[in-house]
Amino acid sequence: MKIIMLGAPGAGKGTQAKMIAEQYKIPHVSTGDIFRANIKNGTELGKEAKKYMDEGKLVPDELTVRILLDRVAQSDCKDGYVLDGFPRTIPQAEVLDAELKKLGDQVDVAINVDVPDENIVGRMSGRRACLKCGATYHIQALPPKQEGICDHCGSELVLRDDDKPETVKKRLEVYHQQTQPLIEYYSGKKILQTVDGTQDAKDVFAAIERIL
Ligand code: ADP
Ligand code: AMP
Repeated sequence: MKIIMLGAPGAGKGTQAKMIAEQYKIPHVSTGDIFRANIKNGTELGKEAKKYMDEGKLVPDELTVRILLDRVAQSDCKDGYVLDGFPRTIPQAEVLDAELKKLGDQVDVAINVDVPDENIVGRMSGRRACLKCGATYHIQALPPKQEGICDHCGSELVLRDDDKPETVKKRLEVYHQQTQPLIEYYSGKKILQTVDGTQDAKDVFAAIERIL
């Protein structure tokens, strides 16, 4: 099963993608997590991506597509995956479709986690991320057991640089301009499903399970 998560930054794509990955035993592939891991490790890719991420802009398609295709070509992805944060532009979606077509394959479903802009800044200023294992929390809605510490790996949780309100505003603008058109794109392919992302995370997941 090949699943795409769509939605504004902070809509809960990552939270739901992790739950899907666990339940359906498929890898959770997040381009944002791949970039952050590269930044943490000081790679050339990380240095390049950081320039765009810090400004709330998208990393150029060419670079992003290359890392995504490398990742999904790995053997753990052969029976499917859940993509979180990719595609974010129409050209990215077109490349993915073309590559899958070459393999006689296709995306099965695109799930749009729908959350209005008014809710997003609060979601993101309260988000705490573990840069080691990729887990995310929210200081009110989904707090870790011990404040500031990852439940999964015990590392320190941080407020992402790009979750500061100034950057969030820019990211929302970029989302509306460049990513939202994908809703139409997948709707046209008759594989779009929308869930109300303002519900509790477990209720959002229940809605996704009904779809899958
Ligand atoms: P995205 O991957 O779409 O950027 P995340 O999954 O990281 O979003 O969620 C953004 C923030 O909102 C995180 O702090 C997360 O814990 C919190 N969150 C996720 N889902 C919900 C929900 N249904 N209700 C309230 N907060 C949520
Ligand atoms: P995320 O973790 O999905 O919120 O992504 C964090 C940041 O990484 C984004 O704001 C972009 O700068 C960059 N990024 C992640 N995925 C993509 C993508 N598919 N295309 C372009 N940039 C991306």
